[in-house]
Amino acid sequence: MSNTYSELPDIFYEKVEPIPVSDPKVIAFNSRLAKELGIKEIDNKNIAKIFSGNEPPENSSLISLRYAGHQFGTFVNQLGDGRAVLLGELDTKNYGRLDVQLKGSGLTPFSRQGDGRSALGPVIREYIVSEAMFHLGIPTTRSLCAIDTGDKVMRDSILPGGILTRIARSHIRIGTFEYFASREDWDNVEKLLNYSINRHYQEIKSSDNKALEFLRSVASRQSDLVSDWMGIGFIHGVMNTDNISIPGETIDYGPCAFIDSYDPMKVFSSIDHQGRYAFGNQPQICLWNMYCLAGCLMKFIDQDMSKAKEKVEGVMQEFVENINAKILQVLCTKVGLESEITENEQSIKDLLNLMKSHETDYTQTFSSLNYYLEFNDSKPFLNLFENNKDITSWLEKWEKLIQDQSKQSILNKMKSINPIYIPRNHLIEEVIESANEGDFSLFHQLNKVLETPFSFQEDSENYSLAPKENQIVKQTFCGT
Ligand code: AMP
Ligand code: MG
Repeated sequence: MSNTYSELPDIFYEKVEPIPVSDPKVIAFNSRLAKELGIKEIDNKNIAKIFSGNEPPENSSLISLRYAGHQFGTFVNQLGDGRAVLLGELDTKNYGRLDVQLKGSGLTPFSRQGDGRSALGPVIREYIVSEAMFHLGIPTTRSLCAIDTGDKVMRDSILPGGILTRIARSHIRIGTFEYFASREDWDNVEKLLNYSINRHYQEIKSSDNKALEFLRSVASRQSDLVSDWMGIGFIHGVMNTDNISIPGETIDYGPCAFIDSYDPMKVFSSIDHQGRYAFGNQPQICLWNMYCLAGCLMKFIDQDMSKAKEKVEGVMQEFVENINAKILQVLCTKVGLESEITENEQSIKDLLNLMKSHETDYTQTFSSLNYYLEFNDSKPFLNLFENNKDITSWLEKWEKLIQDQSKQSILNKMKSINPIYIPRNHLIEEVIESANEGDFSLFHQLNKVLETPFSFQEDSENYSLAPKENQIVKQTFCGT
């Protein structure tokens, strides 16, 4: 384990010891990931000791990171890891340098009113969803280990406590830049900029205007990321700038959810009263967040503020064009079509309109279209729309649009982008409920199914279905 972040000035972090827990038990250890990271085999007893924070490895850095952030549009000048400790960094062959962080490891100087702990539920949720995102091919932090601490935490009720080991390309957020920029500590903004470029954006190292190219590169990864989210119906739920990762991974699985019945204005998070982070708002919020990052870099982009503004505007315009084009491309691919062709774009727009008015399940709509193409059976698809005549005529038009391409190539394209299995909200709730009772069998079953989300699996039909009326989850909670 090495520790480059702790070589930055002291102001970047606080030294923190994880607070021991009373009886740690391993719920899940991601041995496949461990292997990919080059971690040598550890027995269960030692996994429990290490990843509960009771006995961190000797060469751990043990720091909590300092950051700030815009939360629901309001600037909070001091946040930081209130319940997390960085053990250190792994230099891996497969993924380069990665952070290993314990989340739920006890009080830190950044805990504010919190207890520094996590309930088991959010640990389970993050483990399932982050790993599912990985298998869906979406940049994300990973989950190496989930621990039941043996201690209780007080939330709305008394719940079992948990600790998650999160693996991330780094934990640098837009909010980390905001911490220093809001204090006009330009020296440290520059240090953070150089550190970030060195760690995540080597390709712009010798650029003439590093700050501008950095902004452009971060924006480009964010536009790819959010387009991917839109393609699988993922709602992050809390796109505050402290939850936006500079290396471009999905991070912070607090109140996240997948849409079931399609509605662009869908919100699940219990704390998102205005719908700021609604499904369809995500691209717009991503732009808002990019402006926050730009604000921290102006001085480095150009000493002349009006020139700096002009340059930033150029990047933002590019960002908007990129993200719109990428989302359209992702959506068109979901129905096997090329984007940038007017009829194709109209076809996906028409389908989305029909999906919205019939409240069809986002995932099932596309996977049943795959099914139709593969098995020549349109019933499951049409049934979702109650065999409405508009959907029949949409299907006829769509068939004309795809007729010039080989069926196999379209099918391959669609099968690689339209999952059959996603971590549905109601399935996660079921898993958490039984985990709180000490039964982790549903948790393991669900993780297994989500390892191959694009392939049909015998006996797993209930994992692919939309929730029944009484299973629909209306709200998700951060659980902090
Ligand atoms: P999040 O909503 O998870 O992004 O958290 C926002 C901020 O609150 C971060 O600084 C977290 O570290 C902090 N926080 C969340 N939950 C807790 C907790 N249980 N104890 C201490 N700090 C917390
Ligand atoms: Mg967070």
